[in-house]
Amino acid sequence: MCGIFAYHGPKKNAPEMVIEGLKRLEYRGYDSWGVAYKKGGEIHVHKEVGKIGDFDSKNLNFGSSNISLGEVEDQYEISMGHSRWATHGKVTEENAHPHFTEDKNIVIVHNGIFANYLEVKKELEAKGSKFESDTDTEVIAHLINDYCKKHSFEEAVDKTCKRIEGRYAILVMKKDRSCIIAARKGSPLIIGVGKEENEFFIASDIPAFLPYTNQVNYLDDNQLVQIDKTGIKFFDMETNKEIEKRTIEIDWTIEEAEKGDFAHFMIKEITEQKSTLTRAINQDTNIIEEVAEAIKNAENTYFVGCGTAGKVGMVGEYLFANIAKKHVNFCFGSEFSNYKHFLNDKTLMVCISQSGETADTLEAIEIAKERGVTIVAIVNVETSTMARISDMVIPIKAGPEKAVASTKATTSQLAILTLLAYACDGGINKGKQLLINTAAQINDMLNPRYEEYILKIAEKIMHVESMYIIGRGSNYPIALEAAIKLQELSYIHAEGFAGGELKHGPLALISEGTPVISLVPNDENTKEMISNTIEIKSRGGYIIGISPENHEVFDYWISVPDTHESSPIVNIIPIQILAYQLAVLRKNDPDKPRNLAKSVTVK
Ligand code: GLU
Repeated sequence: MCGIFAYHGPKKNAPEMVIEGLKRLEYRGYDSWGVAYKKGGEIHVHKEVGKIGDFDSKNLNFGSSNISLGEVEDQYEISMGHSRWATHGKVTEENAHPHFTEDKNIVIVHNGIFANYLEVKKELEAKGSKFESDTDTEVIAHLINDYCKKHSFEEAVDKTCKRIEGRYAILVMKKDRSCIIAARKGSPLIIGVGKEENEFFIASDIPAFLPYTNQVNYLDDNQLVQIDKTGIKFFDMETNKEIEKRTIEIDWTIEEAEKGDFAHFMIKEITEQKSTLTRAINQDTNIIEEVAEAIKNAENTYFVGCGTAGKVGMVGEYLFANIAKKHVNFCFGSEFSNYKHFLNDKTLMVCISQSGETADTLEAIEIAKERGVTIVAIVNVETSTMARISDMVIPIKAGPEKAVASTKATTSQLAILTLLAYACDGGINKGKQLLINTAAQINDMLNPRYEEYILKIAEKIMHVESMYIIGRGSNYPIALEAAIKLQELSYIHAEGFAGGELKHGPLALISEGTPVISLVPNDENTKEMISNTIEIKSRGGYIIGISPENHEVFDYWISVPDTHESSPIVNIIPIQILAYQLAVLRKNDPDKPRNLAKSVTVK
């Protein structure tokens, strides 16, 4: 959550570059945005409420002391920006980042939460600090300024970081210093190494600087980096020693991270499922076999994830029960600490995440690691914190996913779990064949006619107040995931239930015309699913069936291929399309649902 981007280098359009970089990070937060620029011995700030969207950097206005961009002052230009996902303080211009101290000496952008900020704020107020915003972030700026009275800028940032309880990534500039300092604990920060001398980018995610470089340095927790005209220096804040960093080349392309001819990232990413599934399954199977072996040998395995990745983990629980005949436990990252008494060095934890930066899951990993648990990460961002702190990593290879609502990463994660379940049962090739067939059928399914057909039902239900989704077995968590997709895209109340559970309460919610999406694959649950669907129809429910067969009970049939054990993968795709279309019809932004952001780096 929140996008941070900074530039240090010889190019003379630093603020424009920062604005363009922030636009590529906007999926991480879009409540407000702002840019800081060091020029004329001063730091200048421009901030606005709302999305950075199509803001033209020519309209940058650094206030009364407006300055012409591109004038050579220092050898290097420095600018940094922030796209906010508010945690402390309302969405206002005062609360937008960057935050200054009153004397304009220190300016800061921040991703995360300063948990003990109130206590420090009181301390600083007693010393005379005046605050202009309600944010936790402004307190960090003041604390650094306070430490600067007796210490160097570098020491002040280091000392401040040691006082911050919580997760953070910060970038700091000081009026009289031509440098930028960044530090992190728990929130992502990546350094892009530019092609020019002393040219560096600092960002929350790679797409921000992908047009300029694919050479990166990763900052780990409790590390600080300082960039100035002499180059870049990394420090370990625990030992206070300088450290060396390896530069890594990443294989994402800028085309993958751009919308191209598509109206939105979400529909681009839905369409990409024609190829992403194949990429997920056609990778080196040794790692799949290795993880399957670890699951077989573990006394206890936990699948852990949050949101959509959590629902994928739940599907995994069913896939392992049905295919591998092996019991695994699913748990949301935020609930994992409840299991701490059952963790030991014979436990395996399989973490599922798109970004690899989800704070709740990272925290679950910390709890598990303390107890000697072996960690496996199934992630899209191979260089993420989660990938780096795990013992084994299965990359899903879906390429950058920029729409906040996950689509292609979901189906790729489902494919990996299906493959793992087969591998655990000794039949990896059988699993691979099933998934290759599924990928081919998805390729046929995803065409404009299919989307038009789903659009008709979207138009019919676009004004309803509530809708429900039911499924059984491995499609029960898909009903839950479908509800997430419909909620975040359409803002219509949507809930998923296990097919057999309606009669125990929720059936009371069904009245004439209530839309209910029924997931009916051809499997051992088909008969019961049809019975449950009839129960709903008898109470007036309007049935949208997702199934390889057009069952009589359906009012509207959305056909999906018959893909046997991989039915969760094909069943979620028409719902992704429906959710997207509902967003467009209801004039919601499909890429940036209200109140949400991608990569949830706060607890
Ligand atoms: N806690 C800070 C705020 O509310 C930072 C939030 C973010 O990560 O965007 O401004």
